Amino acid sequence: DLLVVGSANADLVIGVERRPAAGETVLGGDLAVHPGGKGGNQAVAAARLGARTALLARVGDDAHGRLLLDAQRAAGVDTAGVRVGGAPTGVALITVDPSGDNSIVVSPGANARLTPADVRSAAGLVRAARVVSAQLEIPLETVVEVVRTLSPDGRFVLNPSPPRPLPDEVLALCDPLIVNEHEARVLLGGACEGDDPADWARLLLARGPRSVVVTLGAAGALVCDGSGVNRVPAPKVDAVDTTGAGDAFTAALAVGLGSGAPLADAAAHAVRVGAAAVTRRGAQESYPTLAEVESL
Ligand code: ADP
Repeated sequence: DLLVVGSANADLVIGVERRPAAGETVLGGDLAVHPGGKGGNQAVAAARLGARTALLARVGDDAHGRLLLDAQRAAGVDTAGVRVGGAPTGVALITVDPSGDNSIVVSPGANARLTPADVRSAAGLVRAARVVSAQLEIPLETVVEVVRTLSPDGRFVLNPSPPRPLPDEVLALCDPLIVNEHEARVLLGGACEGDDPADWARLLLARGPRSVVVTLGAAGALVCDGSGVNRVPAPKVDAVDTTGAGDAFTAALAVGLGSGAPLADAAAHAVRVGAAAVTRRGAQESYPTLAEVESL
């Protein structure tokens, strides 16, 4: 019922005392390899909530690709739409210093080779989905092909991350466009006056999407559609790691919309899922089941 179109990365993480300067070598701790990428994260988060979920993505024909496919299948995601080969699997090389600051190099690899032709060859999957959720760690023209392929009653959800200008054709179908504060500022550019996220939501809505959601970390989210702006507070939790919280939020929102919930109700569910995700370390490893969300 839910199709996620997006990136899948292997996150390679090493703790270091300090980052190396040019020409320097430093010793770090043991390597940790985590499945990541916004598309992969969203698909796992949705499946863990019990939704029938498929992933359209591309990984390399290599060990990282197999690791990512295994993680998706273990969560119950339908991986028939995952293309294999063409480039190495996308990776993020992450060093983390003792204060928790990280430095990251991303190699998009196979994610950059997920093409409009891949979408056309998976048109049945796109048309069958009640909700299609995308992000921007894949080529923009691939996202354009997705909105052109949607079934007339299919709903499109977009988290424009990393943010870049969107064609009107894509904006017009977003229901909702989901942004965090950083993404809102970049998309609004010079039009982003003031610090009131409710104003950002209204300004973004005026650009054409059917609805807008602004996520506000511990403060929850704002929902904006034709009827105005509504605040959705997040439950108070002990946050230990916010990695992938936005992906959990987006997945839960898409799941809620797919089950027929109104946007405000889906957002109220999504802030609880996002809050549950920040109480545990990691991204995909931190995503809750429905029972865990209910017991929050
Ligand atoms: P991103 O991870 O994309 O930067 P946010 O930081 O806005 O996005 O977080 C997304 C969602 O995750 C929030 O709307 C909220 O539901 C949840 N969340 C994030 N941080 C916290 C927190 N400290 N306490 C409770 N919920 C949080």
